[in-house]
Amino acid sequence: MDALPPAAQGDELVSTDPATGAVVGSVRVTTPAELDTMVERAWQAFHNSGWKTLLPHRRALILHAIADGLVAEKDSLATLQMRDNGKPLAECRAMVDSAIGTFRYYAGVCETIETDVTPRRGDYVSITVLEPFGVVACITPWNSPIMNDATKVAPALAAGNAVLLKPSEDSPLLAPELARIALKAGLPAGMLQVVQGRGAEIGAALVAHPGVRMVSFTGGTTTGRAIGRTCGDKLIPAALELGGKSPHVVFADADLDHAVAAVVAGIFGSAGQSCVAGSRLFIEAPIYDEVLKRVVDRAKTLRVAAPDASGVEMGPLASFHHRDRVIRFVDRARAEGGRILCGGAVPEGPDYAKGAYYLPTVIDGLPTDALTCQEEAFGPVLVALPFQDEADLIAQGNGTAFGLACGIWTESFKRAWRVGRALEAGSVWINTYKQSVTTTPFGGFKNSGIGREKGIDGLRLYAQVKSMYFGLHEQPMSVAR
Ligand code: NAD
Repeated sequence: MDALPPAAQGDELVSTDPATGAVVGSVRVTTPAELDTMVERAWQAFHNSGWKTLLPHRRALILHAIADGLVAEKDSLATLQMRDNGKPLAECRAMVDSAIGTFRYYAGVCETIETDVTPRRGDYVSITVLEPFGVVACITPWNSPIMNDATKVAPALAAGNAVLLKPSEDSPLLAPELARIALKAGLPAGMLQVVQGRGAEIGAALVAHPGVRMVSFTGGTTTGRAIGRTCGDKLIPAALELGGKSPHVVFADADLDHAVAAVVAGIFGSAGQSCVAGSRLFIEAPIYDEVLKRVVDRAKTLRVAAPDASGVEMGPLASFHHRDRVIRFVDRARAEGGRILCGGAVPEGPDYAKGAYYLPTVIDGLPTDALTCQEEAFGPVLVALPFQDEADLIAQGNGTAFGLACGIWTESFKRAWRVGRALEAGSVWINTYKQSVTTTPFGGFKNSGIGREKGIDGLRLYAQVKSMYFGLHEQPMSVAR
């Protein structure tokens, strides 16, 4: 059961519940010929459905109706996501809430940022308008399907585009539900279609398709680089939300109760399958042993259980083949000389026998340039490192290819400011961790991505700027100006 590739059988993708191994559902893989038809249909809808010329406040009504549809089906969507990818039910509910908030937010945003009149500099007035690209591709990973889908689809539609949404082959069941709800809410047919299949096949074909004018991708850095290359060849924009190896920093003056709780939540929430997981724990040298012991003690008591069990804190990993990757990652940490302070194994017992469970794992004793400290595990694996002073911390903290997020625990505002500015990360959390709201831009530095989702920036990603000049000349224009 362990070494299965993504659950593909013939032209079907089968989704299995990672807590039990039971089949949850299946979808049909999109063929290349169907992809051509879908792209054509998307362009037809874009030109003829009236969506792109619909006044923004009318578009907003439909985005609100999609949010209403998500509200009406919140429980069943949360349960489906739980079974599709194993996250605890409470987290899945929060993700549906996030998706609802995203549709409502972009309903509001699209009403307010339509045009800009720029100050006059001559015998004309210029007006800047935002126009959709036409047909855009949104490609999402398996870790938070409904939330990631909404983060892309809502602003892309708000900006007037037709969307081809490709969910991960490992969590294919939520995207068709979103498309169904959107259609029922009044979105014209063809404006949101779902492409299913494996990334290297239909995903790559989607990106390369001449009818696709912009790509928004969330997933791994290697995939992002390949997509960026194709988009570069096509000269179309690619928005890339990629991986991370985020530093979570505890200074000696921190409120340790809060810091320890946040460190544990920051890595073991979602079983570490979060792009912003705080996977490198930096502890100031004088409190290294104390903080590490408290983190390990707490990790050992985390309730690892079925995603719908009462009091569950960590469910299974999203698939058996992903658990295999995490097992290999920890095996390599051992080979590199890392000390496994807790976890480092599959839990034993009848409750865990059928699921893709893995224990919360804390490792130390590795140099900062070890592969374990450099590469993303995307699982419940925390590596701890001491630092001597701010300069040492900043050198180590910035010493990976990633730059997605960081957390800083200190009571000193000035230090938080200095360190927060010096660390290379798109999101900096001071005395908190893993906060993310629809209103605030999110994205990565360095190999963690290009572009910002959420906030107004999140809508601008899906729009191209057109500047229109209206002449006010009283005299005919002269040749020499
Ligand atoms: P992945 O890169 O393997 O796949 C992501 C999506 O891309 C899937 O839909 C997949 O089918 C598709 N895909 C794969 N190869 C493709 C190709 N050549 N062309 C087009 N599409 C292709 O990533 P994953 O394993 O699904 O997700 C885990 C990764 O996502 C982690 O690295 C994680 O950090 C990252 N992630 C980032 C964010 C963020 O906002 N920065 C959020 C969630 C996850």
